Amino acid sequence: MSKIRFEAIAESHKRARIEITETGRRSEMFRANVFDEEKMLQYLTKEALEKVKNAIFSGGKIDRKIANQVAEGMKAWAIARGATHYSHWFQPLTGSAAEKHDAFFDLLPDGTALEKFGGGQLVQQEPDASSFPNGGIRNTFEARGYTAWDPSSPAFVYGSTLCIPTVFVAYTGEALDNKAPLLRALNVVDEAATAVAKYFDKNVTKVIATLGWEQEYFLVDKALIHSRPDISITGRTLVGHSPAKGQQLDDHYFGIIPSRVLNFMKELEKECTLLGIPVKTRHNEVAPNQFELAPVFEEANLAVDHNLLLMDLMEKIADKHYFTVLFHEKPFAGINGSGKHNNWSLSTDTGVNLLSPGSTPMKNLQFLTFFINTIKAVDSYDALLRSSIASASNDHRLGANEAPPAIFSIFIGSQLSAVLDELEGVSKGKLSPEEKTELKLNVVGKIPEILLDNTDRNRTSPFAFTGNKFEMRGVGSKANCAKPMTILNTIVAKQLQGFKKEVDVLIDKKGLKKDEAIFNVLREYIKTSKRIRFEGDGYSKEWEKEAQRRKLSNNKTTPHALQVLTSKESLALFKSMNVLSEVEVTARQEVELEAYILQIQIEGRVFNEIVNNLIIPATVEYQNTLIKNVLGLKDIYGAAHKKFSEGQLALIEKIAEHLSEIKNKSDAMIQARKNANSITDINKKAFAYCDDVRPYFEEIRYHCDRLERLVDDRAWPLTKYRELLLMK
Ligand code: ADP
Ligand code: MG
Repeated sequence: MSKIRFEAIAESHKRARIEITETGRRSEMFRANVFDEEKMLQYLTKEALEKVKNAIFSGGKIDRKIANQVAEGMKAWAIARGATHYSHWFQPLTGSAAEKHDAFFDLLPDGTALEKFGGGQLVQQEPDASSFPNGGIRNTFEARGYTAWDPSSPAFVYGSTLCIPTVFVAYTGEALDNKAPLLRALNVVDEAATAVAKYFDKNVTKVIATLGWEQEYFLVDKALIHSRPDISITGRTLVGHSPAKGQQLDDHYFGIIPSRVLNFMKELEKECTLLGIPVKTRHNEVAPNQFELAPVFEEANLAVDHNLLLMDLMEKIADKHYFTVLFHEKPFAGINGSGKHNNWSLSTDTGVNLLSPGSTPMKNLQFLTFFINTIKAVDSYDALLRSSIASASNDHRLGANEAPPAIFSIFIGSQLSAVLDELEGVSKGKLSPEEKTELKLNVVGKIPEILLDNTDRNRTSPFAFTGNKFEMRGVGSKANCAKPMTILNTIVAKQLQGFKKEVDVLIDKKGLKKDEAIFNVLREYIKTSKRIRFEGDGYSKEWEKEAQRRKLSNNKTTPHALQVLTSKESLALFKSMNVLSEVEVTARQEVELEAYILQIQIEGRVFNEIVNNLIIPATVEYQNTLIKNVLGLKDIYGAAHKKFSEGQLALIEKIAEHLSEIKNKSDAMIQARKNANSITDINKKAFAYCDDVRPYFEEIRYHCDRLERLVDDRAWPLTKYRELLLMK
């Protein structure tokens, strides 16, 4: 009989909580471990400070002399904060963050020991990172990769290491990471949006994309996780019957946070605050053991870095509190999964949120311009946006009646829909003075008022306008936000460039006034992007049919979703925006497909192991007990035993039926894997895993979960849902 389950449960029951007391004001602790402007002021020369600020603001270069000065100041500060090592912190295509530590310590030729860190080490490093996925870039070009300092995200001390955010690129220039393309996308959206924002305010010189993510996650006792090979290895339960009491009662949602968890959160938030991650809200989520954390929004590049850093911190601090944090999008079948909403907007260096309606008609026209252009961008590139959130784990969640479907559509609410309907009626060409007044007074002038009571929020929409920002809701909880942010900012930049051109033509060639030209172009966009707007229930079957009629993309699985990356249109877009070259796009597609294949392959292997080595032996053992019982009854009662053993015999047969289904299906799954593995074309292989291997999982699971309900609880080897999801 398996003991690990019961030992784990006993261990989890005995846990004492680790008390964390919240001391000090957050505002005073904020960014204590970050080399921000305040510290730079202390540790850098005026010249170096100016150069760094210039690099942050306009991407200016930093020469070696200045780099040396910055490194010197950074080192002095970091050592004073207790750092002994430094590390280039980068984001390889695995999706998470990576680091390689070097000690400040060095020896001079005469044997004198000293702490060394110069401009060279700050600006560029060559980590031996040849094992990170690169989609063939490094083999093809025999290019080595190096990491290069990103001054726009400040260095920080994490543990005893000075971490320097960097991009990871090949010597031939190709990006090997998720940060470099994001920076390029942020750069083009800045250029394109600034040019358009100048129609409304000449003083705008820079536009930044802002991102506020909301991170959902599960916490489960560490011992319980160790008792489940499927969760430990794949991040999710491959088998497990839903508990009698799950989330039906909604009693966990926004309920009192369990004290063990609260202590974890307190410690996490303290560390976040020191690292400059502006965490703000914490609460229970819908599912038992599910929680959410959200910060105040920040510039997108910094927000992405902070989210990755947060996930790392969470794992470390959870471990200390004897928890395992699960970022998988669907750790428990039948129970809500986790996502990471990406709230996104554009903001000027004059402090204006371009997606926030203002107090004057002109400001509102500016709002409408950015609002409608975003809608148009998503309409043009819906499939591409979908591809940016594709992963084996997120496939479980999208469209599962708890998260938006794989179809992209935009919800804007009834009031803004009415505004767009009115604008659709704007006359072609020049506008009469009456029409202008009417637009000013009754359409554009009224937006802030109506938005105030626009509390109507459609939770089923994948891309919703929520008052002063768009909220992208399909992003996976495990994902690196850099991917969707790269695509979203690229398509919006492309769209704004096109808009600017069209407006300028109307002004220069047709003699229209600026606002007339803008109204004219927006009117056409409203007409041509209607299919992407949907206010109804995104979870419904009818919507799926309607979306198909509208020719919206609906790629339910990752291999399907990733195809669009290398379409002619996508390649042209990435190239024209200088975000990704064809080689880089192809590489990324390959890396994603490979990751998909690996994930399903690993799940398949673990599944076989669980079935053959845990579930079948335990079930047979229980079946033997029943058989022994029937034989005993026969010994006592002879032919009359049937009267007493009917139930047992029925159970023996039921168990035998499930066992043979499990055996046959898992053998067939092994064969399907073998077939898939023999395919060399990576695309075809991914489809084979998706269409031929993966469907067995559900089928095998069904029979395993039936057995879980039949077999003696004491004999069942796998920790059950009700045990995993019980929190003291
Ligand atoms: P909710 O939408 O849940 O009612 P909020 O509107 O306060 O709550 O914001 C939710 C998330 O959106 C937060 O993470 C917040 O930082 C972010 N957010 C708010 N404004 C912006 C913005 N202009 N740009 C990007 N993110 C934003
Ligand atoms: Mg939200």
